[in-house]
Amino acid sequence: MAIKITDECINCGACEPECPNNAIYEAAEEWKFSEGTSLIGNIVLVSGKEYNADESQEPIDDEVYFIVADKCTECKGFHDEPQCAAVCPVDCCVPDDENEETEVQLIAKQQFLHKE
Ligand code: SF4
Ligand code: SF4
Repeated sequence: MAIKITDECINCGACEPECPNNAIYEAAEEWKFSEGTSLIGNIVLVSGKEYNADESQEPIDDEVYFIVADKCTECKGFHDEPQCAAVCPVDCCVPDDENEETEVQLIAKQQFLHKE
């Protein structure tokens, strides 16, 4: 499953540069699917949702750092464990129960985000 950041976050910023998918953003920051991935132009997610990868999307949280679930692979394909959780000083990067995915799904997501 994807990882989420809880409101315990102290906005230290340590996790953001560690994410191999550029799935972590500062509070109130707009984000794009194309950032840190190979995605460009019109894309269709496994969920069927359609986006333009180059278009700015609304921030998901205005108070603390947030993770874009559709860009989080739990670090599968890059690392053995979630890097955000490994560096967070207050342990507020936790499994997101609302975005449960199997390892196979997470690997497929990683390959979708980083096509050759
Ligand atoms: Fe990024 Fe990995 Fe944290 Fe997901 S688990 S947000 S891919 S660092
Ligand atoms: Fe927030 Fe933890 Fe990331 Fe720091 S490392 S910004 S406390 S989620």
